[in-house]
Amino acid sequence: MKHPLLLVFLALLFAACTRQQTPVTELPVRRDSAQLDVATADRGSSNSSRASDVRTASDDPFSRVGDTDWTGPNQYRSSNGAPGPAYWQQRADYVIAVTLDTARQRVSGKVSITYTNNSPDSLSFVWLQLDQNLYRPNSIGSALFPADSRWGVRGFEGGYDITNLMVNGQAARSRVDDTMMRVGLPTALAPDGGKLTIAMDFAFLVPEHGSDRMGRDGTLYELAQWYPRMAVYDDVRGWNTEPYVGQGEFYLEYGDFEYSVTAPAGYVIAGTGVLRNPADVLSPEQRNRLEKAARTADVVHIITEQESRPAPVSGIRTWKFRAENVRDVAWAGAPDFRWDATSWNGVLTQAYYPWPRSGKGWENAAENTQWSIRTYSELFYPYPYPQATSVAGPVGGMEYPMFVMVHYADEPQGAFGTIDHEHGHEWFPMIVGSNERRYAWMDEGFNTYINAFSNERRSPGSSSWPDYTADWKQVVDRKIQSPLMTSPDRVNPAALGAIGYRKPGAVMLALRNHVVGAGNFDAAFREYTRRWAYKHPTPADFFRTIENYSGEDLAWFWRGFFYSTDVMDIGIEKVRMRQGEDGSRAVISLRKLTSIPFPVALRLKFEDGTTSDVRLPVLIWAAGDSYDATIAVKKKVVGVRLWPDPSVPDWNVSNNTWGEAPPAEKPGPSTLNVGKSVVP
Ligand SMILES: [Zn+2]
Repeated sequence: MKHPLLLVFLALLFAACTRQQTPVTELPVRRDSAQLDVATADRGSSNSSRASDVRTASDDPFSRVGDTDWTGPNQYRSSNGAPGPAYWQQRADYVIAVTLDTARQRVSGKVSITYTNNSPDSLSFVWLQLDQNLYRPNSIGSALFPADSRWGVRGFEGGYDITNLMVNGQAARSRVDDTMMRVGLPTALAPDGGKLTIAMDFAFLVPEHGSDRMGRDGTLYELAQWYPRMAVYDDVRGWNTEPYVGQGEFYLEYGDFEYSVTAPAGYVIAGTGVLRNPADVLSPEQRNRLEKAARTADVVHIITEQESRPAPVSGIRTWKFRAENVRDVAWAGAPDFRWDATSWNGVLTQAYYPWPRSGKGWENAAENTQWSIRTYSELFYPYPYPQATSVAGPVGGMEYPMFVMVHYADEPQGAFGTIDHEHGHEWFPMIVGSNERRYAWMDEGFNTYINAFSNERRSPGSSSWPDYTADWKQVVDRKIQSPLMTSPDRVNPAALGAIGYRKPGAVMLALRNHVVGAGNFDAAFREYTRRWAYKHPTPADFFRTIENYSGEDLAWFWRGFFYSTDVMDIGIEKVRMRQGEDGSRAVISLRKLTSIPFPVALRLKFEDGTTSDVRLPVLIWAAGDSYDATIAVKKKVVGVRLWPDPSVPDWNVSNNTWGEAPPAEKPGPSTLNVGKSVVP
């Protein structure tokens, strides 16, 4: 999902007129050191230093994080962050056939799901996700969001009609609860590989505004959350039954999909997967062009501008697709698509856009798509699917396997930013299948982090850091923060861009560049991606992988930036010169003014104008909130700067210098020093 500034402003506007309850927010905590000293004195401590500030696990930033998001390791999830020896995951394979009725603006058809129970539990019922029920009157989502908001339903009434529900060929009973449906099983589904088939007929009216995740614009249809999908049953929470209400995205099982879309004969259908019957739906000329596109890095026009306005034809055509090892499928159809394609490393990268209303920016979209697939493959994990498609339409930006929906764009760069963001989602969460509905930071946050690498390469010399931190700062200033661990459905809509996207992007950059080190972190992050590809990682699996692989105990980092809303403020209190028998010392008194520690970087300036850099480990803060750094020097220190590279999340710059401080470095790219390519 995209989150451009426009949407931030819209969200602010809508937040202002919503009557929903404000989510619980935690305000930044600034410690009152005088009070803490009194408390220490009351306990009779003989230690007058502030070391005794740390009294309980909750005060100790270095204490382990232990709650439901970071449970103990077990046979399913190992202590080193990898899937455990008994890791299991359910599987859902789908066969779907639908018809798009453009006269009634309706989709109807059949789905048959083969569900494999790889868990050690026998199951007497299963849960499915009926996302279209968001458009039923009185749905939870329609109560939470104003009708005209981004996630609102605009007064549209729809939802699923489900008939002929069968389990293993026998009529089955179900209970629908908002966007979730529980299906009782006539006989329990056996553990360790038991299979069953769930089949049903389904139909729904296509909303014009599909809460910015699907919808239509005149004759153009963008279909997602369009078939009943299995809920995830996992070793962490059993059935994951949070309903679809708007901000929270999806959590889905992997499997293979065979699906077909029958549409008016003049329509072109683009979708997840590989088109299986090109001879039925494409002209010989189009097929030749596609073959050419598959062999070149140049853009080939499959449907040219002239061909995008064909004469009306009657009848219907069926488009058949197959997608393997994916967690979802989505598609779009229109009678006036232009269609461009090119390729990279055997991956067909495509753009479909209704002409001319898509805007001129879309003429670069096939190249934009190729850029993103190549860049993320080279940096993080090879793109595993045969194609990647971008479609222009009314949806601002939404991601599905091999397929993304992006807004119309006149400006080439306007389309690039969103196309790049949405295709970044092919890595998180399409390849690494985390639970988006509970942890936006593992989806949007990781994606925003990798987007910095792509954007800074696309615009050499640029830096993503200022944008990321500015967005984070505005939610701190407005006191609408919540911790990154907050599920997105409980985040203030006006804060979603910061909490789901930019703050996690910024703290990941800070972790890479100032804590773990670029090469070390890149390797650890790739290892996380590799370990959890096509699996369901939890926050603990990420935290443990990064710690184990990098060799750093980062409890303080997770506590400070993921579990709390506090901000960092470390300052220089004073600097003294001290003469010892064996030479001069500069004593730099540092103070930590909030709960968040951080390894310290200092640049000293000497009386002759030369400078020297000093790094101090984060453990200097284990003993308290004050620390005297005693540094052997040959010349008199006349100035000190904390964070010579200012891309550090220190909230208060006013106490970061002393004396004639040397100048800060100019803000530069935050994704330098990447290790070697990962493309095999
Ligand atoms: Zn996104």
